[in-house]
Amino acid sequence: MAANPNPLGQRLARLTREGDLYERLEKERVRCFACGHRCLIPPGQQGICKVRFNDGGVLQVPTGYVAALQLDPVEKKPFFHALPGAKALSFGMLGCDFHCSYCFVPGTEVTTSGGSRTIEALFASGDEVFGTERESVAVSVGVEVLTHKHRARRVKGVFRHQYEGPLMAIRPVSGPEIHTTPDHEFLVVARAARGSPAPNFFMPASGITPEFDLLEPRSDGTFWRRPLEETWVTTYRGPVYNLEVEEDHTYLVNGAAVHNCQNWLTSQALRDSAAVALPKEVTAAEIVRLAHEHGARILTSTYNEPLITSEWAVEVFRAAKGSGLVCSYVSNGNGTPEVLNYLRPHVSLYKVDLKSFRDRHYRDLGGTLETVLWTIRKLHEMGFWVEIVTLVIPGFNDSNEELSEIARFLVSVSPEIPWHVTAFHKDYKMQDPDDTPVRTLLRAAEIGAREGLAFVYVGNIPGAVGPWENTYCPGCRALLIERVGYRVLKNRVGAGTCPECGRSIPGFWGQKVESPAS
Ligand code: SF4
Repeated sequence: MAANPNPLGQRLARLTREGDLYERLEKERVRCFACGHRCLIPPGQQGICKVRFNDGGVLQVPTGYVAALQLDPVEKKPFFHALPGAKALSFGMLGCDFHCSYCFVPGTEVTTSGGSRTIEALFASGDEVFGTERESVAVSVGVEVLTHKHRARRVKGVFRHQYEGPLMAIRPVSGPEIHTTPDHEFLVVARAARGSPAPNFFMPASGITPEFDLLEPRSDGTFWRRPLEETWVTTYRGPVYNLEVEEDHTYLVNGAAVHNCQNWLTSQALRDSAAVALPKEVTAAEIVRLAHEHGARILTSTYNEPLITSEWAVEVFRAAKGSGLVCSYVSNGNGTPEVLNYLRPHVSLYKVDLKSFRDRHYRDLGGTLETVLWTIRKLHEMGFWVEIVTLVIPGFNDSNEELSEIARFLVSVSPEIPWHVTAFHKDYKMQDPDDTPVRTLLRAAEIGAREGLAFVYVGNIPGAVGPWENTYCPGCRALLIERVGYRVLKNRVGAGTCPECGRSIPGFWGQKVESPAS
């Protein structure tokens, strides 16, 4: 692997070992299956998460450090049906597999109403440039570009920033290659559907293979198909560009229709040096010792996306085995069969963030809704104790329709899966939506209950949501666990039954999961 010029990158490259969750392919390429991206990684390159890399045909993965270590009540994870009031020692590494950056390298041709121009020439044609050397935007560009509807629409701004990380290279059967950040969405159609009507949809570059054709709009409202020869991951360091386009929010690069930039950013230490916590070297045995010293009963892999560092989590959980600690994952649910089988012997509790029921939102984040739904269903089938969290964001996922769809899906897995609807507080770089009003959360909770979920909780607004922080028996409505925020005031569940009517209450109350109804 080429030397990483960044001291943090050099340190992280040293804290690695050969991974378990991958296969070797010809020409020293590897396929990683630690998360739903299933990156095909050529030698010398990183996966989309940037923490796993191919060193001469061997996949190297993170080990032996933590970037964060913290003791919290288990309710903060949140698990409400697992050892109420217990302390959980949480550890995290660096990196994430969901992110969002919609950029192209210099030389990428954009179709304007006056012909083709490189993306950096569009930036240079702006009358005014704001920002810094690292990040800037050119406005008053005075150019219209063609959109996926074959309409000329004004460019509102051209953004340029410095980028270092994976790129997707896309080689069409004819025409120039396209080099783009992995999340950038292209309008595609499944190749198998040639000759028959099939839906066109936007797909992140990271998921595009020769199984799909890119689409170029024609003036009559139909599309040319642009078949692909090959796609692969490469890396890049230097300036990248993207556009924001009025109204249609799309433009054409090298003829192919793509979404314009999105500002939906997730916290990603490796992509934002301001957010980096320095890694601290530690052994698995030391983490386990710390957990016992601090009276923790639970170990949790969290903070970064734990799937991408599963080998390290399992190393820590193996060290914990036999010492009575319960092991858990707090994850985005972008799973694979291989990683879930790998985790099953070690992980008892699994929290999934179900961010939305709209695939386009997941695609904006670099994943797919289908994978997350599959993961939730599979986790339940495999006997993990599963709790689901939805951060309710005004204008993003708070419609009655979408909340009902989420609740109905969960009921279809099990009506007894706990669903936490939590408040969004303006945070990090996400500027647009407002904080979630209490009434929105109460509406979400009522929708969950109406759709048939037995355990719905409202989080992040302690003391203001009435009964929605407590657990009640679905049989006789007796109060079982009383909470304010993360504090347990009363716990009457005992070994997993209602003390009033004797009904079994699903959860992890001791050393094994009391299965929820399916
Ligand atoms: S963990 Fe996911 S994103 Fe990272 S290399 Fe593996 S498949 Fe790619």
